[in-house]
Amino acid sequence: MNKMIEIQNLKKIYDQNEVLKDINATVEKGQVICVIGPSGSGKSTFIRCLNLLEKPSAGKVVFDGVNLAHIDDKQLNALREKMGMVFQGFNLFPNMNVLENIKLAPMKVKGVAEAEAEKTALELLAKVGLADKAQQFPTSLSGGQQQRVAIARALAMDPEVMLFDEPTSALDPEMVGEVLKIMQDLAQDGMTMVVVTHEMGFAKEVADEIWFMADGYLQEKGTPQEVFENPQSDRAKDFLAKVL
Ligand code: ADP
Ligand code: MG
Repeated sequence: MNKMIEIQNLKKIYDQNEVLKDINATVEKGQVICVIGPSGSGKSTFIRCLNLLEKPSAGKVVFDGVNLAHIDDKQLNALREKMGMVFQGFNLFPNMNVLENIKLAPMKVKGVAEAEAEKTALELLAKVGLADKAQQFPTSLSGGQQQRVAIARALAMDPEVMLFDEPTSALDPEMVGEVLKIMQDLAQDGMTMVVVTHEMGFAKEVADEIWFMADGYLQEKGTPQEVFENPQSDRAKDFLAKVL
């Protein structure tokens, strides 16, 4: 057992709205976790609490042995470098070509030399199947291609864990597969991943653990087989009956 992220009694309240009530979970190094659950159940809020894009109202998140409640701004930047994040929207910089998009953070944030940043960027582009798109601008790419660039950009920081929040939800159906394939490759390479997704086929095949979120709690945690084939709670049974 090699704990990477520990979440204890995590709570998040917006005004009066208690979105996360009491979340407890552990992500081990190399694990792929898929977080599933109804819309509005707090999945995005949860994943954003892991890298402090949202500040937990109570409880703790411990990453690599460091309690995130106690870190300063400098440590926060270091934390963000170690946690790559990919969102539903692709969020590429529109005024930069693909190569520049990928090179920027390693150069600016980590002080990597341009030649090295470029070499890494080109390798990552090859990995996501877009070696020939280095000089293109984001708007000239399809949604699936843009999302693959976004994944390459996150990987350029050499993160310890990748957080995905519904990375394929904004894509036309025919582009979903190419993005999931890249994520599957990443998982096979041993990347630690937390993936919020509605892609149950992907979750079944790739996840080590499924976490089912509803009503502010992780109501079920287990292997895909346990959660999909033998859900315990009515809430999970209900949800799965609709999506499977
Ligand atoms: P999911 O990702 O599972 O669809 P979210 O985490 O986006 O769920 O949202 C859970 C609940 O928290 C919703 O009721 C939503 O309206 C509320 N919420 C999310 N973000 C904010 C915010 N920044 N301010 C206030 N309420 C929010
Ligand atoms: Mg969401």
